[in-house]
Amino acid sequence: MSDLIDTDILVSGGGVAGLTAAVAFGQAGFNVICVDPAAPIMTREAAGADLRTTAFLQPARAFLERIGLWGRLAPYATPLQVMRIVDAGGETTEPRASHDFDAADIGELPFGWNLPNWLLRREMVAAIGDLPNVDFRPGTGTAQVLTRQAEARVTLSDGARIRARLIIGADGRDSFVRKAANIPVKTTRYGQKALAFAVSHAIPHNNVSTEIHRTGGPFTLVPLPDHEGRPSSAVVWMERGPEAQRLTDLEVTDFEGEMSERSGYLFGPLTLISRRTIWPIISQTAGRMSAERIALVAEAAHVLPPIGAQGLNMSLADLGTLLDLAELDRDGLGNHKMLTAYHRARHAEILARVVGIDALNRASMVDAQVLRDLRMRALNAFYGVAPVRRALMRAGLGARDIQK
Ligand SMILES: Cc1cc2nc3c(=O)[nH]c(=O)nc-3n(C[C@H](O)[C@H](O)[C@H](O)COP(=O)(O)OP(=O)(O)OC[C@H]3O[C@@H](n4cnc5c(N)ncnc54)[C@H](O)[C@@H]3O)c2cc1C
Repeated sequence: MSDLIDTDILVSGGGVAGLTAAVAFGQAGFNVICVDPAAPIMTREAAGADLRTTAFLQPARAFLERIGLWGRLAPYATPLQVMRIVDAGGETTEPRASHDFDAADIGELPFGWNLPNWLLRREMVAAIGDLPNVDFRPGTGTAQVLTRQAEARVTLSDGARIRARLIIGADGRDSFVRKAANIPVKTTRYGQKALAFAVSHAIPHNNVSTEIHRTGGPFTLVPLPDHEGRPSSAVVWMERGPEAQRLTDLEVTDFEGEMSERSGYLFGPLTLISRRTIWPIISQTAGRMSAERIALVAEAAHVLPPIGAQGLNMSLADLGTLLDLAELDRDGLGNHKMLTAYHRARHAEILARVVGIDALNRASMVDAQVLRDLRMRALNAFYGVAPVRRALMRAGLGARDIQK
């Protein structure tokens, strides 16, 4: 039997959330082991690369600054100054209402900054390389979890045995750690999928993120740096499952025709410049954020449709709260008091946000013309009242999640 390895924290999962956790707690001086059965894919071209992008909203950037990661990411980040919501729910795909939510209305900073997920992994793994107290073990998963009041024992897939004061479950929507802790989940399925890919186009995006609503879910273009001298955007296109699959299977030129039509030609004809990846859309919440010696973060605790760039931003708010509590009482790392405080600080906030995004997603999916007209009138009404408009923008940023 292998020797027992002592550490402060075992991070289960090396996705974007798990890698961020490893950096956050490592730079705060804790000893961290981070494991993931899959090695991170760190180039855009590699098979299986995560071609999604993440829009880091203002509070998330503040957290990344706090843990020393922002400096690495900033050179690659594209600012999001304006969020444009377009209704194209009429008889044709022609846009019939368009409203700009400008970050300048509520402050000096852009709403957020957009970065490709594969690049996040590359920079985070590099940051971990600079932290001698963080041991990243790609190719190794969490295989067994046992907890007691004073410690957690974890067996890894390669047989290594770890003793930790805290396990951070960052192992995704099917979290092994969450299941080991018997924490139930509530899952809502929409019969919907998202296509994620990148495009180039003739008309510049001017740092405007554009969300176009018709049926089946939003079609969202998020600004990227120019690609081979042409303006470029990341696209998330949500549709009912069979339609999303049909789009995925189309020949490239047919697909380009359909996506240009769906975008209302707002940026001219769109050219596909990446593979198409497809993601099932669900809402899911864990019944608790913690168990004995265990804290759940990110998709292990909450999954929601990609609307309003909430998912990973909420995950960083989880990590910010956990780090605050760990630094407040370093000796109490992973004890009952800390983990109860973590659950209380995050759970209600997460449930409220999931309910809000669920409602937006259902509104975006509607088919019946009468409901599409109602949706447009509601959007026009909200937009028309300046204080409501500003309140919506602040809520979207997660004003209550802002990290110190
Ligand atoms: C199309 C799309 C667009 C999105 N856009 C945005 C956006 O703009 N802004 C935003 O904030 N969010 C966005 N999100 C959400 C965001 O991408 C997710 O919240 C985030 O990627 C999930 O990260 P994660 O680390 O929790 O999970 P994952 O990326 O799923 O990572 C989990 C990791 O755990 C590992 N694992 C599994 N089992 C084990 C085990 N036994 N032991 C150890 N490790 C294990 C897996 O290999 C995996 O690497 C989007 C989501 C989608 C679908």
